[in-house]
Amino acid sequence: MGTDEVEPQLLPNRFADAVGSMSGGPDRDRCRCVGHSIATRPATVSFHGDLQDTEAPGWRHLLALIDEAAADGRTVFKPFVEMSALERRQIVTLPPTIAKLTAVTHLVLYGTNLVRIPPEIGAMTSLEIFEPYTSHRLHWYPYELTRCVRLAGSTVSTRVLYGNFKFRPPFPALRPVTDSGDADFAALDPAVWGADAVRNCSVCSGPVDHELRQVWISCLVGTDVLPLLVNACSAACVAALPEPHRDYPPTPHTGGPDVVQPGSRY
Ligand SMILES: [Zn+2]
Ligand SMILES: [Zn+2]
Repeated sequence: MGTDEVEPQLLPNRFADAVGSMSGGPDRDRCRCVGHSIATRPATVSFHGDLQDTEAPGWRHLLALIDEAAADGRTVFKPFVEMSALERRQIVTLPPTIAKLTAVTHLVLYGTNLVRIPPEIGAMTSLEIFEPYTSHRLHWYPYELTRCVRLAGSTVSTRVLYGNFKFRPPFPALRPVTDSGDADFAALDPAVWGADAVRNCSVCSGPVDHELRQVWISCLVGTDVLPLLVNACSAACVAALPEPHRDYPPTPHTGGPDVVQPGSRY
């Protein structure tokens, strides 16, 4: 779509540098699903099940912005700054085409309505600074983010993370193993699986076509310890995961209310 179809940003101001225009209504949905303290954390949590509307103008605009950034090889990518509030609210995940952004060193996702980030972010191998700050519905990240080996700086709102050290909210429960006969890995419910499809193993990149093993692991990424969702193709790939960060569950786990977390004995 052409940029002429995009609402002009009225009254550009200094905040526009971070979040874009605020005109046109709320730019995101509220979320309190992890609580904000030990007293308010829930016993169980579930993934946000929002499906991405790929016909929405915001999605088509984002695809165009990614193509533009991939073509000009820019190093700083702040797509949401160029979108209207309405468009920003329409975006709940990023397109797989972010894999083309191999020159981007600095990705700004400030104050978005995102509920998940796709594994293709692992192909953004130049990434050094990752800023999803105040994207309050992003409670977890894909394990593939660990492939961005240059990532040195991050700005994450840690209070909204599953298992965060401040008040240890729970992680969504995962199915330890699912046979390919029991689920269509190409068409999953994101409320259950955290994704609408799983094609490749988070660990070995091989196809996930026989069985799917999902686990959580908390690892240091950039400057934050993040809850990472692993979609593994085999028990061997789960066993190959690194040791989780200290002061987090000591082994990869499948979430749910029974996971014992450090500092959660209140
Ligand atoms: Zn939430
Ligand atoms: Zn694997």
